[in-house]
Amino acid sequence: MADVTIVNVFPSLMGTYGDVGNELALAHRLRLRGLTTECLRTDPREPIPTTADLYLIGGGEDRAQVLAASLMADALRSAVVKGAQVFAVCAGFQILGESFTDGQGQTHAGLGLLDAVTHPLKERAVGEAIINSTLPVGAIVGFENHRGATTLGPDATPLGRVITGVGNGDGQRTEGALQGTIMATYLHGPVLALNPALADEVLSRIVGPLPPVDDEYAEWARARRLSPL
Ligand code: GLN
Repeated sequence: MADVTIVNVFPSLMGTYGDVGNELALAHRLRLRGLTTECLRTDPREPIPTTADLYLIGGGEDRAQVLAASLMADALRSAVVKGAQVFAVCAGFQILGESFTDGQGQTHAGLGLLDAVTHPLKERAVGEAIINSTLPVGAIVGFENHRGATTLGPDATPLGRVITGVGNGDGQRTEGALQGTIMATYLHGPVLALNPALADEVLSRIVGPLPPVDDEYAEWARARRLSPL
């Protein structure tokens, strides 16, 4: 049995922005600490196991997102009830909320695991973004590409405040969401490869505090993105 079990939910539908790299970054960081990982990339035609430690959901286009939401709903709800961690990006973030309205104005039910609703932005948000996290992980850098604007309700708190970029697009400069075992963000990158402290925050929720490792390459990539500040 591996130290950490990860389910990457439908990367064939919800991984069009390289978010599969989040899985690779997490497995790499565990390996550096001598810990083992079992990663399962689920196929939309197969059932999703509900006993993993962590579920990763990536970004996706509107139609893929609607299909993925209905196919993952029961399994994700069941996994979260059992205490699983969830890390979701962009379309994955929107799916976890109460509802999301797509670019055509159609509203779809979300999984209801996050106190959040998504409506279309006037214009698609595309570009590099930097946020100041509410977690003790410093600045989070990444790339956003979304049409949705997400408003958080009282049960969710932002992952951070936008320094540059659009983020949740709620008029409050918030970015992402935290609620219970769920962490969500609009940022691709892959965001957990670009932000080692955030990756370790996700992992430490499963395995406890982790010793530091050499993050030279990630720091180099971060410095280039943080240099306009
Ligand atoms: N389809 C969603 C939107 O455009 C999510 C996009 C994404 O995952 N990058 O808002």
